Amino acid sequence: MDFSRVEFIKGVYSLKELPEPIWPEIAFAGRSNVGKSSLINRLVRRRNLVKTSSRPGKTQALNYFSVDERMYLVDLPGYGFARVPKQMRSSWEHLITGYLERRETLVCVVVIIDLRHELKSQDRELVDWLRHHQKPFLPVYTKADKLSKNKQMKNAAALDAALTITPDKRVLFSARTGQGREDLESRLANYVEN
Ligand code: GDP
Repeated sequence: MDFSRVEFIKGVYSLKELPEPIWPEIAFAGRSNVGKSSLINRLVRRRNLVKTSSRPGKTQALNYFSVDERMYLVDLPGYGFARVPKQMRSSWEHLITGYLERRETLVCVVVIIDLRHELKSQDRELVDWLRHHQKPFLPVYTKADKLSKNKQMKNAAALDAALTITPDKRVLFSARTGQGREDLESRLANYVEN
C-alpha cells in the first residue's frame, strides 16, 4: 500500500454526511496534543496534510482521506480538553461513538498515546469502550524520541501493563525520527488487506 498517495476527501460533521462505505477504513484517535497530526503526516510523508496543534473550541469533524484509492484514513477530533464546554463534549461523544459503533467498514482504531506519561483516564475509557464493542484497535506509543532507549522500554512496559496487552500488540513511534513508521505501515496494510 502506498501511504503517500493520499487525498483529502471531506470533513464530516454528522453521521448523515459519512461517505459511501466503499473501502476499509482506519480511524486515528488520541488526546489533543498527543501528536496525532504529526503521526499521520509522517505516515503519509507530508509535512502538513493534517494541521498540527488544533485548538479547542474549533468545529470538530471526522476528516476523511483516501489512501492509495484502497482505504479511508479517518482523523478523529482529539479528546481530553478540559475547557471544552459540556455541550460540545456531548455532541463530540455522540458523533464519535455513533461512528465507531456503526461504521461497518471500520477495520482498526489507532489509539495514540504519549509514551512519556502514564495512561490517562480518557485513553483507558476509549480502550475499554473499544474492547466492549469488540472493535479492533492498535495502540501506538508516540514521542519515543523524547526518551532514552531505557526509559522507552520501561514506559512502554508500564503502558502495556495498564492496557493488559503484550508488546507485539502495539507500536513504538516517533514522528520526529520516523521510528516505528514501517512497523505501523505494515500493520495497517494487514488490517486493510485481510
Ligand atoms: P495533535 O494535537 O495530537 O494533532 O498533536 P500535534 O501533532 O499537533 O503535536 C503536538 C506537539 O507535539 C507539536 O508541538 C509537535 O511538534 C509535537 N510532537 C508530535 N509528535 C512528536 C514526536 O514524535 N516527537 C517529538 N519530539 N515531538 C512531537
